Amino acid sequence: MYCQNCGQSNPAENTQCVACGVTLAIAAPPPAPPAAPRPHVENNLVWAILATLCCCLPFGIVAIVYAARVDSKLSAGDVQGAISDANNAKLWSWISFGLGLAGAVGYLGLGMMGALSDGTY
Ligand SMILES: [Zn+2]
Repeated sequence: MYCQNCGQSNPAENTQCVACGVTLAIAAPPPAPPAAPRPHVENNLVWAILATLCCCLPFGIVAIVYAARVDSKLSAGDVQGAISDANNAKLWSWISFGLGLAGAVGYLGLGMMGALSDGTY
């Protein structure tokens, strides 16, 4: 076949032009499929912030860190990473919510125990 670059005739089995070294068309990798539209990945940042403000600060911050990474990974084309971070953001938001709730219930329980034990609340 003939080189598209320099016109040199090459043996058919060659993957590179013997004259200029350019990759011959027949051996070129198949063209990349048209870029799929970037999927939307919910970054759960809202939940992370809510969890931080309302509940448990340390875990909420972990959630925010993950949520903040979603968009940057998405723009870098790392969809799997973005989804994974989004899931982590959601997970830590829920952990934060859960701990906040458990803390509130615990406070309530302690308060009630205190009220029962010494009659003052
Ligand atoms: Zn060539």
